[in-house]
Amino acid sequence: QKMSSAEAISLEDKFGAHNYHPLPVVLSKGVGVFVWDVEGKKYYDFLSAYSAVNQGHCHPKIVGAMMEQAQTLTLTSRAFYNDKLGVYEKYVTDFFGFDKVLPMNTGAEAVETALKICRKWAYEKKGIPENEAQIIVCENNFHGRTTTIISFSNDENARKNFGPYTAGFIKIPYDDIDALEKAITSSKNIAGFLVEPIQGEAGVFVPSEGYLTKAKALCEANNVLFIADEVQTGIARTGKMLAVHHENVQPDLLILGKALSGGAYPVSAVLAMDAVMNVIKPGQHGSTFGGNPVAAAVAIAALEVVKEEKLDENASALGQLFRDELNKYIATSSIVSLVRGKGLLNAIVINDNEESETAWNICVKLAEKGLLAKPTHGNIIRFAPPLVITEYQLLDCVGIIINTLRDFEK
Ligand code: PMP
Repeated sequence: QKMSSAEAISLEDKFGAHNYHPLPVVLSKGVGVFVWDVEGKKYYDFLSAYSAVNQGHCHPKIVGAMMEQAQTLTLTSRAFYNDKLGVYEKYVTDFFGFDKVLPMNTGAEAVETALKICRKWAYEKKGIPENEAQIIVCENNFHGRTTTIISFSNDENARKNFGPYTAGFIKIPYDDIDALEKAITSSKNIAGFLVEPIQGEAGVFVPSEGYLTKAKALCEANNVLFIADEVQTGIARTGKMLAVHHENVQPDLLILGKALSGGAYPVSAVLAMDAVMNVIKPGQHGSTFGGNPVAAAVAIAALEVVKEEKLDENASALGQLFRDELNKYIATSSIVSLVRGKGLLNAIVINDNEESETAWNICVKLAEKGLLAKPTHGNIIRFAPPLVITEYQLLDCVGIIINTLRDFEK
């Protein structure tokens, strides 16, 4: 007997910690751009697990690689070498143009890893005294919810009452090059600048053209590491393999997660050149599962899929189409004021306040009509389908979205 949605929800509510507020949809299957609930209703997935499922649900090549490896060897820990990890490390460093990679599992864990590498580099290479390194971060950032990361998060929900907080962070406005220059030159103890090339959780906020180029130049001029968190924006999501590629910027530390596995398995990574990565010595950092052979096999397949299927080009073209089509509607809409984004990472802003329930109510209606999306704020809805979506499917979805929004017109 198959479980009903109501049963599944009541089980999670009763036995799971209430650390999420999901839409009341219970999914049990996914193929490409589609997911199905336990009652068999089919939906377009316009969240992609927060941009993790860029290659589409259950991509046969990724699942195949995972199955093959799962039947051979799953975990040895890094106490020993395994025959898949080095192959993956060569592949991923070649892919993104770095000397070395440090494999981890989740996005937040990779961010923590980058912060540790940056601090150690500052101590060894810049002579910043132990315990004095400062890392510049941006307002409205999202980098995860671990204890160090919440110390500089704007997400009051994840931060407040979870102190004491970790010291060593300076927060400046995003997309403000003057603020960065002021902060970078304010002290000789600045070690790094941690930035999302597009702020995802902030409601898909795209910085001004040239911001990342200028920020990188400032970092270089002041011997400060430019740390790009591409956990959400990376792996073709914004129409390039990395969002920093829109401005030809190469970060000193690159943080990847989510779509590095196509959502099939937790895989994250930090990439850097030798001069930075070699500050890490045996035992100074690690994780039992980081770099396990299944993760390695899955990540190679996931990156191959992105390349073979030219998902960056698809995201670029269909992202433009998505914004163009929505803009036609927005021109005469009383409820939506704008659509913004790059590639297939987009959001609409609704004419209501941040605390309203309008975006949530629209998402509930979208789900009824067969499209799954989630608000980032009470007035912002993010749209991020798998990058394997076709033009026909995308236009179908634009139709669903506009029809639903029309129901909310005043
Ligand atoms: N960095 C960014 C930019 C993210 O968007 C996220 C997740 N939304 C994270 C880090 C954290 O990743 P994870 O949930 O895998 O820890």
